[in-house]
Order: sequence, then C-alpha cells, then structure tokens
Amino acid sequence: MDIQNFINGKYQDPIGDAWLENINPATGEVYGRIPDSDERDVELAVQAAQAAFPIWSSMSIQERSAILMKVSEGIEKRLPELAAAESKDNGKPLKLATRVDIPRARDNFAFFATAILHDSAETHDMGESGFNYTTRKPIGVAACISPWNLPLYLFTWKIAPALASGNTVVAKPSEVTPVTAALLGEICNEAGMPAGVLNIIHGLGGRVGTPLTEHPNVPVISFTGGTQTGAAIARIAAPKFKKLSLELGGKNPNIIFADCDFDDMLKTTVQSSFANQGQICLCGSRIFIERPIYEKFKQAFIEKVSKLKVGPPSEDSSQIGALVSEPHLNKVMSYIKLAEEEGGTILTGGERVKLDGEHANGYYLRPTVIEGLEYTCRTNQEEIFGPVVTLTPFDSEEEVLTMANSTTYGLAATIWTSNLKRAHRVASRVESGIIWVNCWLVRDLRTPFGGMKNSGVGREGGFEALHFFTETRNVCVKL
Ligand code: NAD
Repeated sequence: MDIQNFINGKYQDPIGDAWLENINPATGEVYGRIPDSDERDVELAVQAAQAAFPIWSSMSIQERSAILMKVSEGIEKRLPELAAAESKDNGKPLKLATRVDIPRARDNFAFFATAILHDSAETHDMGESGFNYTTRKPIGVAACISPWNLPLYLFTWKIAPALASGNTVVAKPSEVTPVTAALLGEICNEAGMPAGVLNIIHGLGGRVGTPLTEHPNVPVISFTGGTQTGAAIARIAAPKFKKLSLELGGKNPNIIFADCDFDDMLKTTVQSSFANQGQICLCGSRIFIERPIYEKFKQAFIEKVSKLKVGPPSEDSSQIGALVSEPHLNKVMSYIKLAEEEGGTILTGGERVKLDGEHANGYYLRPTVIEGLEYTCRTNQEEIFGPVVTLTPFDSEEEVLTMANSTTYGLAATIWTSNLKRAHRVASRVESGIIWVNCWLVRDLRTPFGGMKNSGVGREGGFEALHFFTETRNVCVKL
C-alpha cells in the first residue's frame, strides 16, 4: 500500500517522485511506499496552510469545535481499520492499538473541541482608573512533528489543540509509522474541514522536518521525539524567535519503597516496564527497590516477566509485539551488550526471539531485566527506549533521590509507598515533569504534560496546549 502527501485537502505524490519503503516490523517485509518528500512539498503545504488561515482563524469557536468533534467521530467510526493499520505499521499488539492508541487519538480531538469552548481570557479591574483584558489569538501556520512510538496518538495530541486554537497546520508524522497519519486526511475531509487547514507531509527528518522548521512562514513548532533532534530544531528556531514546544526523551525512575502495596506495584511495574515493548517515553526503565524487599521483588518480577508472551501483534494472546524497526532493535541489543560489558547480569531476556512462519524475520526481543550496574554507567544514564530495565537496590530516600536525579533527563517518575508524607516529600524532590504515586500512565487530558531538564521545554495538555498555540496580548483601557 502506497501513501501520499495530503495538501490543500487533496492526496498527491511527492513532487520529486521519490519514495521510501514501509516495512512491517512483525514480518520484516516491505508492504508499501512512503513519499520521500522534500522542501518543494513543504513549500506547497505551507502555502496551502497560509491561504486557509484567514478562513479557519476567523471561524467561530463553535464552528471549529463542531468540525473537530466530527473528526473525533470519524476516528471512532474507523477505529478497527485504524487500529489494524497502526499495529501493522508499528509492531504494537493490535489489542493495545484498539484499546489505547486509537481511542486516545479520538479523545484528543473530542477533548480539545470541548476545551476550546471553555477557554476564557482574563479581565482585570483596576478600579476607577480603568481595566485591562487579555486576548489569545491564533498564531498562523503551526508545524507539528511527531515520533513513531504512539503514532496517531501523539500526532493528534499536537494537531488537535493547534487547530482548536485557530491555527492551520503542516504536520509531519514519523517516516517509520506514517499510515494512520495519512488516513487522518480523509477523516478531516469527511468532517468538513476546509482545504488547507491540515496538511500532512511524509518523509525524512532532514528533508522534510528541517525545511518545515526553517520556513519563515511557520512561526510555531510543536515537536515530540528524541532529545538530539529537539536540540537541532531549537538551534533553528532560536535565531528566528519561533515559539517552540519540545517533548523529548526520558530515563524514568520507578522508585519502590518496602511499605508499598506489593501486588499492585508488581502488576503495574510489569506494565510500566514493557508496555508497547518499552517504547513509551514514560516507561520506567530504572527500577529502584528498597533493600528489604529487593530479593522478593526480583524473584516475583522475573517470574512474571519471563512469562510475558512475545508474539505476532495481530494475535490476541501476544503481550509483547515487535520493536519498530531493525535499526532500533539493533540499537536496543547494543545496549544489552553494553550492560554486560559494564558488569551487569542479565536476569531474564537479552536475546532476539525468532517466531515461526511469516514472522520469522520480525523484530522481536524478549523483555530484559538487568541487575548489578552502577547508577552512573551508560546503561543507566542513556535512553534505550526498548524492553530493557535495570534493578538497583537502595537504603535511604536520600540515596534513591541522588540516583533517580542523576541523569540529564526529567520526564516521568513513579513512586510506590503507603507513607503519605514520604510520597509527597519524594514527589517534590524528584526531578520529573510528571510524577505518579502508586500508579502509572494514569492520564487526565486537562493536566500539564512535559519534562524537565533534557526531556523538554514547555507543557502540552489542557489549556496549556491551547495557550501554547496562541499569542497572548494584553490591552489596558484608561477610563
Ligand atoms: P526522532 O527525534 O528521531 O524523530 C521524531 C520526528 O522528528 C520524526 O518525525 C522525524 O522524522 C523528525 N525529525 C528527525 N530529524 C529532524 C530534524 N532535523 N528536523 C525536524 N524533524 C526531524 O525520534 P523517534 O525515534 O521518532 O522517537 C523516539 C524518541 O521520542 C525517544 O527519544 C522518545 O523518548 C521520544 N518521545 C518523547 C515523548 C514525550 O512526550 N516526551 C513521547 C514519545 C516519544
């Protein structure tokens, strides 16, 4: 199946007629082509978005909201088709795409279609001297660039608030997982979105992402992806003073105190370690366990992890699907090798899984648990972004906070304890933008989402996302 760019409401081939292969990670087979677009396609898309901006930005909020709600309904109607496409493109279990990814894409549109109706700007009464009020205006053409791990989920997490706020968009999904993003164009047309409001360009970061972020008529950029790519985009954006939101990598600590609800913690920790093959930016890849329960946890965890079923994404019994690509599988495996060189012991996993038949060449890796590493070593400092976690014991709060905060990242942390005071104390000192206490991945779309340190700049979610995509202005009136 070939996909096309979506520009000005129409699907079209890339101007240069250059194409990339799309590979199914579950089988290793090429199953379609993706536009290998370049700056000429970007130019067309930005022109279409600019032309559509006056229409879209001047529409009433109610009209915009109604169209975005129809997009949400369109996603719901095509949920099985989108989930199957997402699973095939990404390697994630079909049941995960069906229960989480596509419903979340649907909810992103419904949430921001509703939120925009409730947004209000402030007025400040200055007494007899007058008053001042704040307005928030759409900015113009927004660039939305997203990664491969939660393809439609993260693509729509940016596009929906950008559009709800009245901007038009040129969006670039990951070249590794572009199929569901391509289908979104059809859904927007069916929802009655005017041509040019959303444009989708496929291709490589350097050939599409760079000209898009450099473009003089793109004043606002929302990016989710790797920290190095974020830094490259920031270098482009800074001298042009573009508005920038960066959601980047993580190396998240999962901090387990001895007084936690053990069974609940164990069940959730298996998920927070290996959901989506460990390819969620919020997965807890460094597990710190208070020493009195270290051995008990280790045994119980390994027993559960070693039983996780690695299998074809389409099969309902599969708990772990394929990693997204061969280069990514190789990268993750190179970290397992590095961990051994750094003195780590592999407690379970560590090797590629060869399935039968058509899945024999898929990119499957057994969930891997490693212990015996220094917290300062590369395995414990660098983002692996796969089904690999490390176990480290600790003796005190102070010690675990030193270890947890030792990386350059600061995205998400999980704390397990039944001591309320300790939970708040540790939450206030752990350097993370998102902190879960006795749970993981519980998301409330109203709340701010984003990382500290090298995990990003800015916050998405709720009104923070709507406001990011607007220019705030204050008018002061003297009476
Ligand atoms: P990536 O940085 O390689 O690519 C992300 C997107 O940026 C892709 O669409 C890619 O084509 C594009 N891109 C690449 N180079 C570019 C450039 N120079 N200019 C503009 N665009 C460019 O990341 P990835 O491998 O797709 O995704 C994995 C990373 O994403 C991990 O680091 C993960 O932690 C991170 N991530 C973060 C969050 C979050 O919310 N913080 C969520 C999901 C994933």
